[in-house]
Amino acid sequence: MAYDDQNIFARILKGEIPCDKVYEDDHALAFNDINPQAPVHVLVIPKGRYQSLDDFSEKAPEAEIAGFIRAVGNVARELGLTGDGYRILANHGADARQEVPHFHVHVFGKRDMGPMLRRER
Ligand code: 5GP
Repeated sequence: MAYDDQNIFARILKGEIPCDKVYEDDHALAFNDINPQAPVHVLVIPKGRYQSLDDFSEKAPEAEIAGFIRAVGNVARELGLTGDGYRILANHGADARQEVPHFHVHVFGKRDMGPMLRRER
């Protein structure tokens, strides 16, 4: 499946839709999630056109991968999350219920995150 230039995060990157920005550098943009699941819930996205970790890890140049991972760490540090801890999460595809087809890492913080996954029912 081809990258969809009209996905919501592509439009945020192009400045067509506003976001509540918390961080930006050459490789990444980070902004508050519109529907936060924790007191801190930030989305970090690469500036390149990648649908998920799958094609990002396969196709992105090493400088982009390194820059993106550094950006995730920078966001967590700048938001003061390293002391008490934080959780990162990236969904790929249907089983993970990925909603937006532009690679993003969720950063959650400022509360106890509970167990890693909900139990199977
Ligand atoms: P996914 O399920 O794809 O990993 O997560 C997508 C996330 O994007 C969700 O947590 C959802 O709340 C968030 N989201 C969807 N649309 C927007 C938007 O227009 N602005 C922001 N800031 N977040 C959005």
